[in-house]
Amino acid sequence: MPTCLVTGGAGFLGSHLCEELLARGNRVICIDNLETGSLVNIAHLRTPDFVHLNLDITNPYYVEEPVDCVYHFASPASPIDYLRLPLHTLKVGSYGTHHTLGLAKRHRARFLTASTSEVYGDPKEHPQRESYWGHVNPIGPRGVYDEAKRYAEALTMAYHRQQGVDTAIVRIFNTYGPRMRPHDGRAIPTFLRQALEDKPITVFGDGSQTRSFCYVDDLIRGIIALSDSGHHDPVNIGNPNEFTLLELAQTVLEITGSASEIVFEPLPTDDPQVRQPDISLAKELLGWEPTVALREGLTRTIERAGAEALMGSR
Ligand code: NAD
Repeated sequence: MPTCLVTGGAGFLGSHLCEELLARGNRVICIDNLETGSLVNIAHLRTPDFVHLNLDITNPYYVEEPVDCVYHFASPASPIDYLRLPLHTLKVGSYGTHHTLGLAKRHRARFLTASTSEVYGDPKEHPQRESYWGHVNPIGPRGVYDEAKRYAEALTMAYHRQQGVDTAIVRIFNTYGPRMRPHDGRAIPTFLRQALEDKPITVFGDGSQTRSFCYVDDLIRGIIALSDSGHHDPVNIGNPNEFTLLELAQTVLEITGSASEIVFEPLPTDDPQVRQPDISLAKELLGWEPTVALREGLTRTIERAGAEALMGSR
């Protein structure tokens, strides 16, 4: 039975990944210090083939048993988290990625790192292809996340080129689904919580900035296909259907039948104006494309998570 190690496995995406890897017949070692994740996310995975180790990957760490595949997902990911934890975010992207790549090297394991569309910054190319180098403000408040991820990509390619590690890089675009934290500050959990509580929906700016939202099941399928592919260069995984934030707020209102009004708040610093993946490479290389449309995904999120969890106080 192959063994997969998932850093950040108790987080939103990591817990879905652990679940799918177990369903595919793998043993899973989840490394997570619960900084932004939760034991609640992995409570249903308690089988003999699943183990959670509470370790901070910014410190060196070792695993005795053989590991075949490493998925590196640990990192604060929402603006609320990385603005609260700027130095930790930089350390996870640098030391944490070093330690995890070193572990993959020792075990001769395939290594896949969770990068992000934020490496493109506030893009001057639209939609964003993997060949675009990005437009990032390194010294703005968001720089700690964007640059940590850019450094993690550089480090991953260096371990591949110099040390021969079998690496992969997935550039994840905004993803949503059950187990998002209601108060993590990202648009979909915030709008769903506000709509379900009949509180005003807070849209930043005039709501004309765009995002492309991918349902979590589609994303996990793409990540596993990339891991299986043997490809080394970065690959975008996301849903190319683009919506303005105002359209998203209106869709959430329709689906929840909420009486909330929409209110407008100032744009955060360096908030990207547009965001849309070009997924030609994923289609060609992996035969992958998303299948869940936004309305369907939002409906599934509400059904699977339950309104209470989406309104929770975490
Ligand atoms: P999350 O906050 O739910 O999960 C991150 C997990 O990492 C948490 O469980 C947290 O406790 C853990 N962690 C943080 N620091 C750690 C440390 N030092 N040692 C061990 N564990 C640590 O976030 P998420 O949305 O699931 O994101 C997972 C990964 O995917 C991140 O690397 C993020 O940058 C990337 N990503 C996510 C999205 C998205 O839309 N959700 C988009 C692009 C990239």
